[in-house]
Amino acid sequence: MILMSVALMGICIIQFYWLKNGIDLKATNFDSQVTYSLNRVKQRLENDANNYERMMERSGSSSILKEGKDAISKVLNPSLDAFRKDKLESQLANISWLNQPSLALSTISAPDLSRYLRIELLNQGIDLDYDFGVFSDEDEDYIITNGKYNVVNVSGNSSEGAVADRLSQSMHEVNLFDSEERKPVGSLRIFFPQKTSFLINSVLPALLSSIILTGLILFCFVYTINVILTQKKVSMMKTDFINNMTHEFKTPIATISLAADSIVNPMVKSNEKMIDRYADIIKQENKRMLNQVEKVLQIARLDKKDFELKLSKVNLNDSVSIAVENTKLRVNKRDGEIKSNLRAQNPLVIGDENHLSNVLHNLLDNAIKYSPAAPVISIETKDAKGGVEVIISDKGIGMSKEDLKRIFEKFYRVSTGNLHDVKGFGLGLSYVKAITDAHKGKVSVTSELNKGSSFTVYFPHDPELAK
Ligand code: ADP
Repeated sequence: MILMSVALMGICIIQFYWLKNGIDLKATNFDSQVTYSLNRVKQRLENDANNYERMMERSGSSSILKEGKDAISKVLNPSLDAFRKDKLESQLANISWLNQPSLALSTISAPDLSRYLRIELLNQGIDLDYDFGVFSDEDEDYIITNGKYNVVNVSGNSSEGAVADRLSQSMHEVNLFDSEERKPVGSLRIFFPQKTSFLINSVLPALLSSIILTGLILFCFVYTINVILTQKKVSMMKTDFINNMTHEFKTPIATISLAADSIVNPMVKSNEKMIDRYADIIKQENKRMLNQVEKVLQIARLDKKDFELKLSKVNLNDSVSIAVENTKLRVNKRDGEIKSNLRAQNPLVIGDENHLSNVLHNLLDNAIKYSPAAPVISIETKDAKGGVEVIISDKGIGMSKEDLKRIFEKFYRVSTGNLHDVKGFGLGLSYVKAITDAHKGKVSVTSELNKGSSFTVYFPHDPELAK
Protein backbone atom coordinates (compact mmCIF):
# COMPACT_ATOMS: atom_id res chain seq x y z
CA MET A 1 0.00 0.00 0.00
CA ILE A 2 2.79 2.38 0.90
CA LEU A 3 4.71 1.61 -2.32
CA MET A 4 1.57 2.05 -4.41
CA SER A 5 0.72 5.31 -2.66
CA VAL A 6 4.26 6.63 -3.18
CA ALA A 7 4.19 5.61 -6.87
CA LEU A 8 0.78 7.24 -7.37
CA MET A 9 1.87 10.42 -5.67
CA GLY A 10 5.03 10.44 -7.79
CA ILE A 11 3.00 10.05 -10.97
CA CYS A 12 0.68 12.89 -9.93
CA ILE A 13 3.63 15.18 -9.20
CA ILE A 14 5.31 14.32 -12.50
CA GLN A 15 2.05 14.91 -14.38
CA PHE A 16 1.66 18.26 -12.71
CA TYR A 17 5.27 19.14 -13.50
CA TRP A 18 4.90 18.23 -17.18
CA LEU A 19 1.66 20.11 -17.54
CA LYS A 20 3.18 23.19 -15.94
CA ASN A 21 6.19 22.79 -18.23
CA GLY A 22 3.84 22.53 -21.19
CA ILE A 23 2.08 25.77 -20.24
CA ASP A 24 5.40 27.56 -19.66
CA LEU A 25 6.69 26.37 -23.03
CA LYS A 26 3.52 27.54 -24.77
CA ALA A 27 3.82 30.90 -23.02
CA THR A 28 7.45 31.34 -24.10
CA ASN A 29 6.55 30.34 -27.63
CA PHE A 30 3.63 32.74 -27.67
CA ASP A 31 5.77 35.59 -26.34
CA SER A 32 8.47 35.07 -28.94
CA GLN A 33 5.89 34.90 -31.74
CA VAL A 34 4.38 38.17 -30.54
CA THR A 35 7.82 39.80 -30.28
CA TYR A 36 8.68 38.61 -33.79
CA SER A 37 5.39 40.02 -35.14
CA LEU A 38 5.92 43.34 -33.37
CA ASN A 39 9.43 43.62 -34.83
CA ARG A 40 8.06 42.95 -38.29
CA VAL A 41 5.43 45.65 -37.79
CA LYS A 42 8.13 48.00 -36.52
CA GLN A 43 10.16 47.37 -39.68
CA ARG A 44 7.17 48.10 -41.86
CA LEU A 45 6.38 51.30 -39.97
CA GLU A 46 9.96 52.47 -40.34
CA ASN A 47 9.95 51.67 -44.04
CA ASP A 48 6.75 53.64 -44.38
CA ALA A 49 8.31 56.58 -42.57
CA ASN A 50 11.32 56.50 -44.90
CA ASN A 51 9.13 56.40 -47.97
CA TYR A 52 7.00 59.17 -46.64
CA GLU A 53 10.04 61.31 -45.99
CA ARG A 54 11.51 60.66 -49.39
CA MET A 55 8.23 61.64 -50.91
CA MET A 56 8.23 64.86 -48.91
CA GLU A 57 11.79 65.55 -49.88
CA ARG A 58 11.09 65.05 -53.53
CA SER A 59 8.23 67.49 -53.33
CA GLY A 60 10.59 69.91 -51.53
CA SER A 61 8.19 70.43 -48.73
CA SER A 62 10.47 69.20 -45.98
CA SER A 63 12.90 72.03 -45.50
CA ILE A 64 13.29 71.32 -41.83
CA LEU A 65 14.49 67.83 -42.57
CA LYS A 66 16.92 69.17 -45.17
CA GLU A 67 18.37 71.59 -42.72
CA GLY A 68 18.86 68.87 -40.22
CA LYS A 69 20.59 66.74 -42.82
CA ASP A 70 22.87 69.55 -43.90
CA ALA A 71 23.87 70.12 -40.31
CA ILE A 72 24.90 66.49 -40.03
CA SER A 73 26.84 66.54 -43.31
CA LYS A 74 28.83 69.46 -42.01
CA VAL A 75 30.10 67.63 -38.98
CA LEU A 76 31.07 64.62 -41.06
CA ASN A 77 34.78 64.17 -41.58
CA PRO A 78 35.70 66.39 -44.55
CA SER A 79 38.52 64.03 -45.54
CA LEU A 80 36.01 61.40 -46.70
CA ASP A 81 36.17 60.77 -50.39
CA ALA A 82 33.27 61.80 -52.56
CA PHE A 83 31.97 58.31 -53.11
CA ARG A 84 31.75 57.57 -49.41
CA LYS A 85 30.23 60.96 -48.75
CA ASP A 86 27.54 60.31 -51.29
CA LYS A 87 26.77 56.96 -49.77
CA LEU A 88 26.59 58.34 -46.27
CA GLU A 89 24.38 61.13 -47.40
CA SER A 90 21.98 58.79 -49.07
CA GLN A 91 21.91 56.70 -45.92
CA LEU A 92 21.28 59.82 -43.91
CA ALA A 93 18.41 60.58 -46.21
CA ASN A 94 16.91 57.28 -45.09
CA ILE A 95 17.27 57.86 -41.41
CA SER A 96 16.88 61.53 -41.21
CA TRP A 97 13.48 61.29 -39.48
CA LEU A 98 15.54 60.47 -36.44
CA ASN A 99 16.18 64.16 -36.10
CA GLN A 100 12.52 64.86 -35.81
CA PRO A 101 11.18 62.14 -33.54
CA SER A 102 7.69 63.48 -33.13
CA LEU A 103 7.41 63.83 -36.88
CA ALA A 104 8.44 60.24 -37.34
CA LEU A 105 5.69 59.03 -34.97
CA SER A 106 3.10 61.16 -36.71
CA THR A 107 3.89 59.46 -40.00
CA ILE A 108 2.31 56.29 -38.64
CA SER A 109 -1.05 55.62 -40.21
CA ALA A 110 -3.45 54.05 -37.76
CA PRO A 111 -5.34 51.91 -40.32
CA ASP A 112 -2.03 50.66 -41.74
CA LEU A 113 -0.80 49.80 -38.26
CA SER A 114 -3.98 47.82 -37.58
CA ARG A 115 -3.55 45.97 -40.84
CA TYR A 116 0.14 45.21 -40.31
CA LEU A 117 -0.49 43.90 -36.80
CA ARG A 118 -3.35 41.71 -37.91
CA ILE A 119 -1.38 40.24 -40.83
CA GLU A 120 1.82 39.65 -38.88
CA LEU A 121 0.02 38.04 -35.93
CA LEU A 122 -2.03 35.83 -38.24
CA ASN A 123 1.18 34.81 -40.01
CA GLN A 124 2.38 33.53 -36.65
CA GLY A 125 -0.89 31.69 -36.14
CA ILE A 126 -2.14 34.02 -33.40
CA ASP A 127 -5.83 34.67 -33.81
CA LEU A 128 -6.80 36.28 -30.51
CA ASP A 129 -8.43 39.59 -29.62
CA TYR A 130 -5.99 42.30 -28.58
CA ASP A 131 -5.63 45.93 -27.61
CA PHE A 132 -2.74 47.87 -29.10
CA GLY A 133 -1.39 51.38 -28.93
CA VAL A 134 1.50 53.64 -29.91
CA PHE A 135 3.04 55.42 -26.96
CA SER A 136 4.87 58.67 -27.53
CA ASP A 137 7.73 59.24 -25.10
CA GLU A 138 7.62 62.97 -25.80
CA ASP A 139 3.90 63.36 -25.11
CA GLU A 140 3.94 60.66 -22.43
CA ASP A 141 0.66 59.37 -23.77
CA TYR A 142 -0.80 57.05 -26.38
CA ILE A 143 -1.18 58.77 -29.72
CA ILE A 144 -2.94 55.77 -31.26
CA THR A 145 -5.08 53.14 -29.45
CA ASN A 146 -6.86 50.26 -31.14
CA GLY A 147 -6.53 51.79 -34.60
CA LYS A 148 -7.78 55.28 -33.63
CA TYR A 149 -5.85 58.53 -33.32
CA ASN A 150 -6.01 60.09 -29.90
CA VAL A 151 -5.90 63.75 -29.07
CA VAL A 152 -2.96 63.77 -26.73
CA ASN A 153 -3.23 65.13 -23.20
CA VAL A 154 -6.96 65.62 -23.40
CA SER A 155 -8.45 63.16 -20.98
CA GLY A 156 -10.30 60.80 -23.23
CA ASN A 157 -13.30 58.67 -22.44
CA SER A 158 -13.03 55.98 -19.81
CA SER A 159 -12.79 53.10 -22.26
CA GLU A 160 -9.65 54.61 -23.75
CA GLY A 161 -8.26 55.05 -20.26
CA ALA A 162 -8.96 51.37 -19.55
CA VAL A 163 -7.19 50.32 -22.75
CA ALA A 164 -4.23 52.51 -21.82
CA ASP A 165 -4.10 50.92 -18.36
CA ARG A 166 -4.09 47.42 -19.81
CA LEU A 167 -1.43 48.31 -22.36
CA SER A 168 0.80 49.77 -19.65
CA GLN A 169 0.71 46.41 -17.83
CA SER A 170 1.48 44.45 -20.97
CA MET A 171 4.86 42.83 -21.40
CA HIS A 172 4.63 42.88 -25.20
CA GLU A 173 6.34 46.06 -26.35
CA VAL A 174 8.72 47.16 -29.07
CA ASN A 175 10.57 50.47 -29.31
CA LEU A 176 9.91 52.54 -32.40
CA PHE A 177 12.31 54.53 -34.56
CA ASP A 178 15.42 53.75 -32.59
CA SER A 179 18.86 52.68 -33.61
CA GLU A 180 22.14 52.02 -31.90
CA GLU A 181 22.90 55.73 -31.53
CA ARG A 182 19.38 57.04 -31.09
CA LYS A 183 17.04 56.75 -28.23
CA PRO A 184 13.59 55.44 -29.12
CA VAL A 185 10.89 58.03 -29.60
CA GLY A 186 8.04 55.82 -28.57
CA SER A 187 6.84 52.27 -28.45
CA LEU A 188 4.24 49.97 -29.86
CA ARG A 189 2.44 47.97 -27.16
CA ILE A 190 0.00 45.14 -27.46
CA PHE A 191 -2.10 43.35 -24.85
CA PHE A 192 -3.96 40.03 -25.15
CA PRO A 193 -6.84 39.84 -22.65
CA GLN A 194 -7.41 36.15 -23.37
CA LYS A 195 -3.80 35.08 -23.21
CA THR A 196 -4.11 33.03 -19.99
CA SER A 197 -7.24 31.20 -21.06
CA PHE A 198 -5.66 30.57 -24.49
CA LEU A 199 -2.61 29.01 -22.84
CA ILE A 200 -4.72 26.88 -20.50
CA ASN A 201 -6.99 25.82 -23.37
CA SER A 202 -4.00 24.67 -25.34
CA VAL A 203 -3.11 22.11 -22.64
CA LEU A 204 -6.73 21.38 -21.65
CA PRO A 205 -7.06 18.03 -23.48
CA ALA A 206 -3.87 16.76 -21.87
CA LEU A 207 -4.94 18.15 -18.50
CA LEU A 208 -8.40 16.60 -18.62
CA SER A 209 -7.25 13.21 -19.84
CA SER A 210 -4.54 13.03 -17.21
CA ILE A 211 -7.03 13.99 -14.47
CA ILE A 212 -9.49 11.33 -15.68
CA LEU A 213 -6.84 8.62 -16.02
CA THR A 214 -5.27 9.43 -12.67
CA GLY A 215 -8.73 9.39 -11.10
CA LEU A 216 -9.38 6.00 -12.66
CA ILE A 217 -6.11 4.60 -11.33
CA LEU A 218 -6.91 6.05 -7.90
CA PHE A 219 -10.36 4.47 -7.93
CA CYS A 220 -8.94 1.07 -8.93
CA PHE A 221 -6.29 1.39 -6.24
CA VAL A 222 -8.83 2.15 -3.50
CA TYR A 223 -11.11 -0.61 -4.78
CA THR A 224 -8.26 -3.15 -4.82
CA ILE A 225 -7.16 -2.21 -1.32
CA ASN A 226 -10.74 -2.59 -0.16
CA VAL A 227 -11.02 -6.06 -1.70
CA ILE A 228 -7.70 -7.11 -0.19
CA LEU A 229 -8.76 -5.93 3.27
CA THR A 230 -12.10 -7.73 3.07
CA GLN A 231 -10.39 -10.89 1.86
CA LYS A 232 -7.97 -10.64 4.73
CA LYS A 233 -10.84 -10.36 7.19
CA VAL A 234 -12.66 -13.31 5.59
CA SER A 235 -9.52 -15.41 5.69
CA MET A 236 -9.03 -14.55 9.36
CA MET A 237 -12.63 -15.50 10.09
CA LYS A 238 -12.16 -18.80 8.27
CA THR A 239 -9.05 -19.59 10.28
CA ASP A 240 -11.03 -18.85 13.43
CA PHE A 241 -13.78 -21.11 12.18
CA ILE A 242 -11.41 -24.02 11.60
CA ASN A 243 -9.88 -23.53 15.04
CA ASN A 244 -13.34 -23.48 16.58
CA MET A 245 -14.43 -26.55 14.73
CA THR A 246 -11.38 -28.54 15.73
CA HIS A 247 -11.96 -27.45 19.29
CA GLU A 248 -15.64 -28.41 19.17
CA PHE A 249 -14.82 -31.90 17.86
CA LYS A 250 -12.04 -32.49 20.30
CA THR A 251 -14.30 -32.76 23.35
CA PRO A 252 -16.74 -35.38 21.97
CA ILE A 253 -13.87 -37.36 20.44
CA ALA A 254 -12.04 -37.40 23.76
CA THR A 255 -15.23 -38.39 25.60
CA ILE A 256 -15.99 -41.19 23.12
CA SER A 257 -12.44 -42.46 23.35
CA LEU A 258 -12.68 -42.49 27.15
CA ALA A 259 -16.03 -44.28 27.11
CA ALA A 260 -14.73 -46.89 24.63
CA ASP A 261 -11.67 -47.50 26.83
CA SER A 262 -13.94 -47.95 29.81
CA ILE A 263 -16.17 -50.47 28.08
CA VAL A 264 -13.25 -52.78 27.33
CA ASN A 265 -12.17 -52.52 30.96
CA PRO A 266 -12.77 -56.01 32.55
CA MET A 267 -14.41 -54.35 35.58
CA VAL A 268 -17.03 -52.72 33.41
CA LYS A 269 -17.43 -55.57 30.94
CA SER A 270 -19.27 -57.63 33.49
CA ASN A 271 -21.58 -54.80 34.51
CA GLU A 272 -24.34 -54.45 31.96
CA LYS A 273 -25.66 -51.23 33.46
CA MET A 274 -22.27 -49.58 33.15
CA ILE A 275 -21.94 -50.74 29.54
CA ASP A 276 -25.32 -49.21 28.76
CA ARG A 277 -24.29 -45.95 30.37
CA TYR A 278 -21.07 -45.73 28.40
CA ALA A 279 -22.79 -46.74 25.18
CA ASP A 280 -25.30 -44.00 25.86
CA ILE A 281 -22.51 -41.47 26.34
CA ILE A 282 -20.93 -42.56 23.06
CA LYS A 283 -24.26 -42.20 21.30
CA GLN A 284 -24.91 -38.77 22.77
CA GLU A 285 -21.49 -37.45 21.89
CA ASN A 286 -21.81 -38.92 18.44
CA LYS A 287 -25.10 -37.10 18.05
CA ARG A 288 -23.49 -33.87 19.16
CA MET A 289 -20.79 -34.26 16.53
CA LEU A 290 -23.38 -35.09 13.93
CA ASN A 291 -25.26 -31.92 14.85
CA GLN A 292 -22.13 -29.86 14.40
CA VAL A 293 -21.41 -31.42 11.03
CA GLU A 294 -25.03 -30.89 10.05
CA LYS A 295 -24.78 -27.19 10.94
CA VAL A 296 -21.72 -26.73 8.70
CA LEU A 297 -23.32 -28.73 5.90
CA GLN A 298 -26.52 -26.73 6.19
CA ILE A 299 -24.64 -23.52 5.60
CA ALA A 300 -22.70 -25.04 2.71
CA ARG A 301 -25.99 -26.11 1.14
CA LEU A 302 -27.56 -22.69 1.70
CA ASP A 303 -24.48 -21.17 0.08
CA LYS A 304 -24.86 -23.22 -3.05
CA LYS A 305 -28.60 -22.44 -3.02
CA ASP A 306 -29.35 -26.09 -3.73
CA PHE A 307 -31.72 -26.47 -0.81
CA GLU A 308 -35.37 -26.97 -1.37
CA LEU A 309 -38.01 -25.83 1.10
CA LYS A 310 -40.50 -28.55 1.89
CA LEU A 311 -43.46 -26.22 2.20
CA SER A 312 -46.38 -27.01 4.43
CA LYS A 313 -48.68 -25.15 6.80
CA VAL A 314 -46.80 -24.51 10.01
CA ASN A 315 -48.31 -23.29 13.24
CA LEU A 316 -45.66 -21.01 14.68
CA ASN A 317 -47.25 -21.06 18.14
CA ASP A 318 -46.76 -24.84 18.18
CA SER A 319 -43.20 -24.59 16.87
CA VAL A 320 -42.34 -22.09 19.60
CA SER A 321 -43.89 -24.31 22.28
CA ILE A 322 -41.82 -27.30 21.12
CA ALA A 323 -38.62 -25.25 20.95
CA VAL A 324 -39.27 -23.90 24.47
CA GLU A 325 -39.85 -27.44 25.78
CA ASN A 326 -36.57 -28.57 24.23
CA THR A 327 -34.55 -25.74 25.75
CA LYS A 328 -36.25 -25.62 29.13
CA LEU A 329 -34.02 -28.33 30.54
CA ARG A 330 -30.83 -26.46 29.70
CA VAL A 331 -32.18 -23.18 31.05
CA ASN A 332 -33.35 -24.77 34.28
CA LYS A 333 -29.99 -26.47 34.70
CA ARG A 334 -28.46 -23.00 34.93
CA ASP A 335 -31.18 -21.73 37.29
CA GLY A 336 -32.62 -19.59 34.55
CA GLU A 337 -36.15 -19.10 33.35
CA ILE A 338 -37.84 -19.08 29.99
CA LYS A 339 -41.26 -17.56 29.46
CA SER A 340 -43.37 -17.82 26.35
CA ASN A 341 -46.28 -15.62 25.39
CA LEU A 342 -48.15 -16.90 22.34
CA ARG A 343 -50.25 -13.91 21.34
CA ALA A 344 -50.54 -14.59 17.61
CA GLN A 345 -54.20 -15.11 16.68
CA ASN A 346 -53.31 -16.39 13.24
CA PRO A 347 -50.05 -18.28 13.74
CA LEU A 348 -50.20 -20.22 10.46
CA VAL A 349 -47.50 -19.65 7.88
CA ILE A 350 -46.49 -21.59 4.81
CA GLY A 351 -42.93 -22.73 5.26
CA ASP A 352 -40.47 -25.53 5.89
CA GLU A 353 -41.21 -26.82 9.37
CA ASN A 354 -37.73 -28.21 9.88
CA HIS A 355 -35.91 -25.02 8.90
CA LEU A 356 -38.31 -22.82 10.88
CA SER A 357 -37.75 -24.93 13.97
CA ASN A 358 -33.96 -24.70 13.39
CA VAL A 359 -34.25 -20.92 13.27
CA LEU A 360 -36.06 -20.82 16.61
CA HIS A 361 -33.57 -23.26 18.17
CA ASN A 362 -30.61 -21.23 16.92
CA LEU A 363 -31.98 -18.02 18.42
CA LEU A 364 -32.82 -19.71 21.72
CA ASP A 365 -29.37 -21.36 21.78
CA ASN A 366 -27.74 -17.97 21.38
CA ALA A 367 -29.92 -16.45 24.11
CA ILE A 368 -28.65 -19.14 26.49
CA LYS A 369 -25.06 -19.09 25.24
CA TYR A 370 -24.66 -15.36 25.56
CA SER A 371 -26.15 -15.04 29.04
CA PRO A 372 -23.21 -15.45 31.40
CA ALA A 373 -25.42 -15.42 34.51
CA ALA A 374 -28.67 -17.40 34.83
CA PRO A 375 -30.44 -16.92 31.49
CA VAL A 376 -33.73 -14.98 31.56
CA ILE A 377 -35.40 -15.53 28.24
CA SER A 378 -38.77 -14.52 26.88
CA ILE A 379 -40.25 -15.64 23.60
CA GLU A 380 -43.37 -14.10 22.15
CA THR A 381 -45.45 -14.55 19.00
CA LYS A 382 -47.75 -11.87 17.65
CA ASP A 383 -49.72 -10.98 14.56
CA ALA A 384 -48.03 -8.63 12.15
CA LYS A 385 -49.08 -7.17 8.81
CA GLY A 386 -49.50 -10.13 6.47
CA GLY A 387 -47.67 -12.53 8.76
CA VAL A 388 -46.43 -13.52 12.20
CA GLU A 389 -43.62 -12.10 14.32
CA VAL A 390 -41.57 -14.09 16.83
CA ILE A 391 -39.61 -12.04 19.36
CA ILE A 392 -36.86 -13.69 21.40
CA SER A 393 -35.33 -11.54 24.14
CA ASP A 394 -32.61 -12.22 26.65
CA LYS A 395 -30.80 -10.32 29.38
CA GLY A 396 -27.35 -11.47 28.32
CA ILE A 397 -24.15 -9.71 27.32
CA GLY A 398 -25.71 -7.78 24.44
CA MET A 399 -23.79 -6.35 21.51
CA SER A 400 -22.30 -3.05 20.42
CA LYS A 401 -23.70 -1.09 17.46
CA GLU A 402 -20.71 -2.03 15.26
CA ASP A 403 -21.19 -5.73 15.95
CA LEU A 404 -24.92 -5.54 15.25
CA LYS A 405 -24.17 -4.58 11.68
CA ARG A 406 -22.15 -7.71 11.08
CA ILE A 407 -23.55 -10.57 13.16
CA PHE A 408 -25.57 -11.94 10.23
CA GLU A 409 -22.38 -12.39 8.17
CA LYS A 410 -21.05 -15.88 7.78
CA PHE A 411 -18.29 -16.84 10.26
CA TYR A 412 -18.62 -13.53 12.05
CA ARG A 413 -18.22 -13.81 15.79
CA VAL A 414 -18.00 -10.97 18.26
CA SER A 415 -14.57 -11.05 19.78
CA THR A 416 -15.07 -11.08 23.53
CA GLY A 417 -11.44 -11.55 24.48
CA ASN A 418 -11.14 -14.13 27.21
CA LEU A 419 -14.14 -12.85 29.13
CA HIS A 420 -16.81 -15.19 27.86
CA ASP A 421 -15.45 -18.35 26.38
CA VAL A 422 -18.50 -19.29 24.35
CA LYS A 423 -18.02 -21.80 21.61
CA GLY A 424 -19.52 -21.39 18.17
CA PHE A 425 -18.86 -21.28 14.45
CA GLY A 426 -20.39 -17.91 13.67
CA LEU A 427 -22.87 -19.67 11.39
CA GLY A 428 -26.07 -19.68 13.45
CA LEU A 429 -27.32 -16.19 12.62
CA SER A 430 -26.28 -16.36 8.96
CA TYR A 431 -28.42 -19.49 8.75
CA VAL A 432 -31.33 -17.65 10.40
CA LYS A 433 -30.96 -14.85 7.87
CA ALA A 434 -30.76 -17.21 4.90
CA ILE A 435 -33.89 -19.09 6.00
CA THR A 436 -35.96 -15.99 6.74
CA ASP A 437 -34.90 -14.58 3.34
CA ALA A 438 -35.93 -17.83 1.65
CA HIS A 439 -39.36 -17.48 3.30
CA LYS A 440 -39.53 -13.83 2.19
CA GLY A 441 -39.42 -12.90 5.87
CA LYS A 442 -37.23 -10.53 7.85
CA VAL A 443 -34.94 -10.71 10.83
CA SER A 444 -33.94 -7.73 12.93
CA VAL A 445 -32.21 -7.17 16.22
CA THR A 446 -31.95 -4.57 18.93
CA SER A 447 -29.33 -4.91 21.58
CA GLU A 448 -27.52 -2.99 24.25
CA LEU A 449 -24.17 -3.97 25.62
CA ASN A 450 -24.47 -5.73 29.02
CA LYS A 451 -28.26 -5.26 29.03
CA GLY A 452 -29.47 -7.91 26.61
CA SER A 453 -30.64 -8.50 23.07
CA SER A 454 -33.94 -8.93 21.31
CA PHE A 455 -34.25 -10.73 17.96
CA THR A 456 -37.42 -10.32 15.89
CA VAL A 457 -38.17 -12.71 13.02
CA TYR A 458 -41.09 -12.08 10.75
CA PHE A 459 -42.63 -14.72 8.47
CA PRO A 460 -45.40 -13.90 6.00
CA HIS A 461 -48.47 -16.14 6.06
CA ASP A 462 -47.80 -16.97 2.42
CA PRO A 463 -44.35 -16.30 0.91
CA GLU A 464 -45.91 -16.38 -2.57
CA LEU A 465 -48.07 -13.35 -1.77
CA ALA A 466 -45.30 -11.45 0.02
CA LYS A 467 -43.33 -8.94 -2.03
P1 ADP B 1 -22.02 -18.30 17.10
O1 ADP B 1 -23.03 -18.18 18.17
O2 ADP B 1 -21.77 -19.70 16.65
O3 ADP B 1 -20.77 -17.56 17.40
P2 ADP B 1 -23.94 -16.85 15.55
O4 ADP B 1 -24.00 -16.55 14.07
O5 ADP B 1 -25.08 -17.55 16.14
O6 ADP B 1 -22.59 -17.58 15.80
O7 ADP B 1 -23.78 -15.45 16.25
C1 ADP B 1 -22.83 -14.51 15.81
C2 ADP B 1 -22.38 -13.62 16.95
O8 ADP B 1 -23.44 -12.81 17.38
C3 ADP B 1 -21.96 -14.39 18.15
O9 ADP B 1 -20.57 -14.63 18.11
C4 ADP B 1 -22.32 -13.48 19.31
O10 ADP B 1 -21.21 -12.67 19.62
C5 ADP B 1 -23.40 -12.61 18.76
N1 ADP B 1 -24.69 -12.98 19.33
C6 ADP B 1 -25.62 -13.77 18.79
N2 ADP B 1 -26.73 -13.86 19.56
C7 ADP B 1 -26.48 -13.11 20.65
C8 ADP B 1 -27.23 -12.82 21.85
N3 ADP B 1 -28.45 -13.30 22.06
N4 ADP B 1 -26.64 -11.99 22.76
C9 ADP B 1 -25.43 -11.49 22.54
N5 ADP B 1 -24.67 -11.73 21.43
C10 ADP B 1 -25.18 -12.53 20.52
